[in-house]
Amino acid sequence: MKTTIIAIALLFSITIEAQTDPKIYDIVDAVSEDRLRNDVKKLADFGTRHTLSDTLSETRGIGAARRWIKSEFDKISSNCNDCLEVFYQKDLVEKGTNQRIVKDVMVVNVVAIQRGTKYPNRYIIMSGDIDSRVSDPTDYTTDSPGANDNATGMAGAMEAARVLSKYKFENSIIYVGLSGEEQGLFGGQGLAKYAKENEWEIIGVLNNDMIGNITGVDGVVDNRTFRIFSEPITTDITDPKTLARQARSRRFYGGEVDGISRQLARYVHKTTKTYMPEMNPMMVYRLDRFGRGGHHRPFNDQGFAGIRIMEAHENYTQQHQDIRTENGINYGDTFEHVNFPYCKKLTAVNAITMASLASAPPSPKEVGIGGIVEASAKFKWNKVEGAKGYKIYWRDTTSPTWDNSRYVGDISEFTLEGIVIDNYFFGISAVGANGHESLVVFPNKIFR
Ligand SMILES: [Zn+2]
Repeated sequence: MKTTIIAIALLFSITIEAQTDPKIYDIVDAVSEDRLRNDVKKLADFGTRHTLSDTLSETRGIGAARRWIKSEFDKISSNCNDCLEVFYQKDLVEKGTNQRIVKDVMVVNVVAIQRGTKYPNRYIIMSGDIDSRVSDPTDYTTDSPGANDNATGMAGAMEAARVLSKYKFENSIIYVGLSGEEQGLFGGQGLAKYAKENEWEIIGVLNNDMIGNITGVDGVVDNRTFRIFSEPITTDITDPKTLARQARSRRFYGGEVDGISRQLARYVHKTTKTYMPEMNPMMVYRLDRFGRGGHHRPFNDQGFAGIRIMEAHENYTQQHQDIRTENGINYGDTFEHVNFPYCKKLTAVNAITMASLASAPPSPKEVGIGGIVEASAKFKWNKVEGAKGYKIYWRDTTSPTWDNSRYVGDISEFTLEGIVIDNYFFGISAVGANGHESLVVFPNKIFR
């Protein structure tokens, strides 16, 4: 009897282990708190990184900051046999484009591409921001350290590059510092347009904006929880007829909480729960904070999956503020407020998500569902290159996460016996020989 129990326990542990990749734990451990601290300090010490600030000084302003970021990416690249393609991507934004653009400015992003071995034109992207601001968004001279907003996201992208450049991946990974965020998301717009023009196949964008504060203005101190913001459905379609057809389809078949960005959010959630179970990922079902936006939005606007990863508890006295003391409160986004153990954790969340997605085969493009007025739900999908098999997921219609799954091997249709189509939402992912999975695809076809 005792032997049987041990045997079952052993079998169970093997089954669990088979679903995880030891490399991913190594990646969590390799993210360095010290390097993040040094990078955030360095970025804050440029005085201001306002988009309209000085570009000629070697020590102050956004020009010096972006040259330093590029030199760091170049250094990382030289440590991995030139495994990164590092370049500036830039667009001129003219004075008066909006009220925050008070003079012509070249909005310059720093891009580093780690080319995939099998799918060089498929990309998973991690972004942070180069630029900062103080109380007046047009004030480009006053000290604006932007330590948490958003030197943390920028430092996170550089640190992820240091860690992941030690590995090879099937898909490409992009680490990017975007600019012009505080002036109206101009850097993201520029790169999203560039991606579209160059026909990049984007798996998803992980936009990191403020990943270092654990002391909320609400009095809560929390170094475990973080937010994953995702819009419900894609927003790139504007043709009224197509919109009406999509709305009708959602009314009858669902999908209003299952857009591509939402699947990316679920992937981050699941990967975190699997490899960093001490963390508490909190999916928020909206584009961004109430009425606000971030640099994932311009990618969403072009039809790409993109989410925002962010601390759970913000401190508004330390964002977008002139450095000052008022009524005993110290205002300003300064270095000493950043919590680096937390920043390391959120950087690791990005790194493991990218390592998993960059190791995964493409998602099936066409996923059909059937089984109306039948006892069992049925599925048909197109096979994808590089998949060893497929996984069918389902969940209660009120659940945010894919709670049930069944691996079905290398086939292209399947019937889930006894699972009635009416009572669940369903999706399908492709699984690689290495066990890594693509994003889940919500059914986009109906069959009888
Ligand atoms: Zn900001």
